[in-house]
Amino acid sequence: MTQPVQAPGAERRVVVIQTAHLGDVVLTTPLLTRLADQYGPVDVVTTPAAAPLLNTHPAVRRVIPYDKAGRDAGLGGFFRLVGLLRGAGYQKALVPHESVRSALLTWLARVPARIGFSGAPGRFWYTERVSVPAGTHASRRMAMLAGVGQAPKVELGLTAQDLQVADEWLRDQKVPADFLALAPGARWGSKRWPHFAGLAARLRRPVVVVGGPEDRAAAEAIAAALPGQVWVAAGRFTLRESAALLRHAQALICNDSLPLHLASAVACPTVAIFGPTTPKFGFGPTGPRDRVMEHPSLPCRPCSRHGPMTCPLTHHLCMRDISIEAVARAVEGMKP
Ligand code: SF4
Repeated sequence: MTQPVQAPGAERRVVVIQTAHLGDVVLTTPLLTRLADQYGPVDVVTTPAAAPLLNTHPAVRRVIPYDKAGRDAGLGGFFRLVGLLRGAGYQKALVPHESVRSALLTWLARVPARIGFSGAPGRFWYTERVSVPAGTHASRRMAMLAGVGQAPKVELGLTAQDLQVADEWLRDQKVPADFLALAPGARWGSKRWPHFAGLAARLRRPVVVVGGPEDRAAAEAIAAALPGQVWVAAGRFTLRESAALLRHAQALICNDSLPLHLASAVACPTVAIFGPTTPKFGFGPTGPRDRVMEHPSLPCRPCSRHGPMTCPLTHHLCMRDISIEAVARAVEGMKP
């Protein structure tokens, strides 16, 4: 939150507040596209980690990083952001992030039109409250803040360099063109399906394991067990470069996690494994070839909105009982 914000032209004085998780930021892109169609590229307040997902997006004029858990933590950082937004003279603020702090921010910044969800905890500070039917997909739900109608697609502003980095790595590593991508990680531990290594062995296909630096050890373990069949991309690439890599995958097999949304942005078909959460929360895959794997009858699921770090019942059957064979058959049964 160090760059000064220039007051944009009157027709462009729109800011979006989205400081939620990285997946939520990806799913905000249809809202940004819809707003850009109406007002031109808009400004977005987001976390430093999410900024690279947006700062090349054609619907975005400026990313304003807000490091709410770090440098900008506390009242000092919050009121610096209030002053920055007030100085920019925004006419309209849209708040897809359901948070008291985000709603209060727009009110204190004296933005005249403040739009958020009718059920959000900070709704009292909004001038317009939008109701959305339960079960609506998050990307469509957020786009509805800018009006109803067909939501634009989830998209990332991948650069020529992002594409080149991914292309060159695949070529240099001699990864076969028919590779599958696996994303065994997830921020919350209970959302991690524990059988990815067994799946890679069962599939007998070239596999690239994707994810962040925190997923690298798991990826290396899978590769060590299957020499010559598995390539480790986890921890090597930026978020946009990872999406560029997924453009080439035949399919991605993943948990309810960020890679699922990166894959949606590049139209990579997915087999998404849901345990403690459910696609009914609005974060499932939406492509015509996508498949969802979930336990058919476990009474304890879903057990939380994000999924706890560990299973509160300790057995973790929501994930452990989804078999390698069932997931492998879903992958093999995907429409060409
Ligand atoms: S309580 Fe049930 S749904 Fe939640 S993590 Fe454990 S097995 Fe999964």
